[in-house]
Amino acid sequence: MPEPPAPAPAGGEARRISIRVDVDTHTGLRDGVPALLDLFRKVGLRASFYVTMGPDNSGRAVRRLFTRKGFARKMARTNALKIYGLRTVLSGTLLPSRPVGHGFPDLLRRIEAEGHEGGIHGWDHVFWHDRLERMDAAAIERELRQAAEAYRAATGHDPAGTVAPAWRATTESLEVQDKMPFRYASDSRGQSPFRVARAGGAAHRLIQIPTTLPTLDEMLGAPGMTEARILETLTEGLEPAGLNVFAVHTEVEGRHAAPLFETVLRGWLEDGWSLSSASSGRRRRRIARRRGTTRRSEPFARAYGVLSAGPNLPRTPPLTPIVST
Ligand SMILES: [Zn+2]
Repeated sequence: MPEPPAPAPAGGEARRISIRVDVDTHTGLRDGVPALLDLFRKVGLRASFYVTMGPDNSGRAVRRLFTRKGFARKMARTNALKIYGLRTVLSGTLLPSRPVGHGFPDLLRRIEAEGHEGGIHGWDHVFWHDRLERMDAAAIERELRQAAEAYRAATGHDPAGTVAPAWRATTESLEVQDKMPFRYASDSRGQSPFRVARAGGAAHRLIQIPTTLPTLDEMLGAPGMTEARILETLTEGLEPAGLNVFAVHTEVEGRHAAPLFETVLRGWLEDGWSLSSASSGRRRRRIARRRGTTRRSEPFARAYGVLSAGPNLPRTPPLTPIVST
């Protein structure tokens, strides 16, 4: 029997923020994830981790420096070498690519063992970023299946959700992932959960839970940006009764921007925002054990009533299809 849907935040002052962690690279997983797990334990929050499961071809992304003006500006602004390190920016070009998720099954299990939710962030992040628009359904399915199978091999169960690399989706990618055992997708920026409508009007099965706030790496490189301004921007962007999703990158918040990220989290907690406490996770796991189910509590989905509804998505007001693009 499915549990009744969790209360939706639109009914009152939920003041809830979901932290979503994107893991794009080998180093980001190996070094950034343990650092973030330690931080989350310290402040008592449960997050959702989405891991690129295949090869780390970040070097190919850096090669765009020489071919794409916009990307060059972005890389210069975000200081790619400082953030990612020399080994990562050469990975998949001058040096062989290293594995991301499938190379660290123990870390994937540790993420879940510490009460966090796990999902996939593609197989090859760079390939998806560069080629998605030219990929047919079979190629997209290959990427998603490899990622989901590697995740299952490490943890023994399906990933909870899928998060498109680089916030890129196509009509084909939405169709393909609809047929896979994900409970939700998070492929876009936006303000509230929605289902994408097809050209003919019918909505896709998977609900989309968008990222609502700007990311630290976007803000850190912006001209004239100070730490105080970043904190102000993040606070201004919060909706007390609505969806708040903050996306974190392990290479940034798990490494050089870790102190600033901790300041952000502690500020939110002091202001009374709920970041899904670890204690509520333990309580839910105890209930799950008593019921003989191995399914873990899943903060990202549960916060918006997605998990408990299983494949039949709830018809509660915030989850009704409201956006058509
Ligand atoms: Zn990513």
